[in-house]
Amino acid sequence: MATFKYFSGTTELVHVRPMRNTDFWKRFGFPRRGVAYDGFSKFIGFVNGRTMDADAVAVERVIEYKRNPSLHKCDGRCLHAKGRNCECSCGGANHGAGSMGQPLAQVLRKAA
Ligand SMILES: [Zn+2]
Repeated sequence: MATFKYFSGTTELVHVRPMRNTDFWKRFGFPRRGVAYDGFSKFIGFVNGRTMDADAVAVERVIEYKRNPSLHKCDGRCLHAKGRNCECSCGGANHGAGSMGQPLAQVLRKAA
């Protein structure tokens, strides 16, 4: 069993739901990449505590977080992970984020 976690950058999003592609691109600009819900829509979510439609954020990463994670120290393997499975101490916040163009030092600072 695993839990799915949704992120924009290194910020975890809540109240995640699909938005139709046409609305998504109208909202975030075309051709904005996102995480596909299906062929017709992409995931959006909200920063915790913000639930107004105007606050919706595009989901950029989905992480499958183990139910009983080992919580090993977050490192480069997590930052540059290609797969979705994470069980380290960052809780998925840094998982795969290193390949998104963020400066590594900045990512590591958040991981500490
Ligand atoms: Zn990590």
